[in-house]
Amino acid sequence: MAIRFASLGSGSKGNGTLVACGDHCLLVDCGFTIKETERRMARLGVSPADLSAILVTHEHSDHMGGVGPLARKYRLPVYLTPGTLRARDIGTLPQVHLIEGHQPFVIGDIQVTPVAVPHDAREAAQFVFRSRGSSLGLLTDLGTITPHVESHFGDCDALVLEANHDPQMLAQGPYPPSLKRRVGGAYGHLSNQQAAGFLQRVGSDHLQHLVVAHISEKNNSLDLARAALSDAAASAANCIFACQQEGFDWLQISSTDIASPPRDGVQIANAPAETID
Ligand SMILES: [Zn+2]
Ligand SMILES: [Zn+2]
Repeated sequence: MAIRFASLGSGSKGNGTLVACGDHCLLVDCGFTIKETERRMARLGVSPADLSAILVTHEHSDHMGGVGPLARKYRLPVYLTPGTLRARDIGTLPQVHLIEGHQPFVIGDIQVTPVAVPHDAREAAQFVFRSRGSSLGLLTDLGTITPHVESHFGDCDALVLEANHDPQMLAQGPYPPSLKRRVGGAYGHLSNQQAAGFLQRVGSDHLQHLVVAHISEKNNSLDLARAALSDAAASAANCIFACQQEGFDWLQISSTDIASPPRDGVQIANAPAETID
């Protein structure tokens, strides 16, 4: 079963990524109002009513701001770490699945591996999705590429990778000094150069899709991101740049190994959910 993915929008004003496989469609993060989420999903040919679940990477409002209202309106289960749940009061959720210890879990045909990342949030997780031998990594909102991150995201077939800022633009830009330090720090966001360095180390010629994402509108430009990532973009089979307004349209990963079973230690997500009232 092929994994398909698309974005409602990418950047500090709101994020939302759809990951679909077979009958299941997941929304990773929701930083938009209900109306805006419905409008952006309609553009991609789906409705929130089609979703199997919402997964949350961390509590920042560009990722979690719209999660509570959307989950309540459409009675959607929400998957998140205990730290993320505690970090933000989003009201009553119809169904909560806590991601414990960043253990992999399964929703339908999709195996989800949460990966801890260094970011200034309580218990941030980014995700790798696998189905029948193909894999997609979503990797934004982190200040550093750790060996742990590299080991999980280095061999994905498709990658949505943050290239948030150009260090010089950030230094000369409008942010106050404390915010500049935060964004550029070890728990902030990846620069164009950090993203390029990661791709250089792990290679990009195995990538079916490379999506450059979470590009700052104030501290980066498409030209600078393109220039920094030109080598990786040239060796990946397909490279696109996600934007705040449009996100990106559906992309499909073709399966490389149809026999590959889920990894050991996988929890089945249909286990009883913890309900928070
Ligand atoms: Zn963000
Ligand atoms: Zn963040």
